[in-house]
Amino acid sequence: MWYWRTGEWLSIGNLIIDDAMHFDVITLFPALIRDVSKYGILSRALDMGICSISCWNPRDYCTDRYRTIDDRPYGGGPGMVMMAEPLAKAINAARMQHENKRKVIYLSPQGEKVTHAKFQDLDETGLIFICGRYEGIDERLIRTEVDEQWSIGDYVLAGGELPAMVIIEAITRLQPGVLGNDLSASQDTFSDDLLDCPQFTRPEQYDGDRVPDVLLSGNHREIDQWRLKQSLGRTSEKRPDLLESRKLTQLEQRLLDEYKQENRDH
Ligand code: SAM
Repeated sequence: MWYWRTGEWLSIGNLIIDDAMHFDVITLFPALIRDVSKYGILSRALDMGICSISCWNPRDYCTDRYRTIDDRPYGGGPGMVMMAEPLAKAINAARMQHENKRKVIYLSPQGEKVTHAKFQDLDETGLIFICGRYEGIDERLIRTEVDEQWSIGDYVLAGGELPAMVIIEAITRLQPGVLGNDLSASQDTFSDDLLDCPQFTRPEQYDGDRVPDVLLSGNHREIDQWRLKQSLGRTSEKRPDLLESRKLTQLEQRLLDEYKQENRDH
């Protein structure tokens, strides 16, 4: 098992993991998981012990001398299929680390499409992810071991490692203390079913385009209202579906009406 804790990958035995959020990744390519984890927010969260990641390579659970992990599909056809047994053993090893209390998620383009809202409502202290390769995994493993199937979008990738990392990063950045400022996550796109407002930084004038005066005013009430208005306006333009299920307050409705009025001719 590979386990990240102190800024380097360790190969250790039966460690009991007590971090706030722990992810087990069943993968043929643990180095891919390790390398993606070296950057940005995720690396910081790992260093701070706010989350941790273990990788379990199903190849370590093969019994034949070639460590065979895949075989041809019954019925014929192109590609190979990951065999159930080594995967089941790897999953079991991961489960045993957590007293069998963790949900097992198979990453699959056929799964439920995950969203920010799903991650916000997540009531788990960890998850076990299975990364498929080739044509996927034996269906009988899905029937016996998998609790849920998650997709990161309507396209097909070569493996589940990048989806696992996308999901791990999306969940991790919502954990308290991970972002420099905890307000950041709550103001991001999809929080409160709104898109984020436009952002500007120095210089005040770029290519003949000036930063909106209100952002230079120092008046925080007006800045907050301007930002909320932009968020509401952008959401209604780009993602009206998000507003359909969201009840607007009187103030929000007024700001949205103003936004539409101001942007009528654009
Ligand atoms: N034959 C499978 C199908 O059509 O459903 C696709 C297999 S895909 C080439 C190999 C692996 O990549 C899958 O088993 C899955 O783990 C992962 N994968 C590919 N696309 C994905 C997506 N959109 N979301 C999550 N996992 C994905």
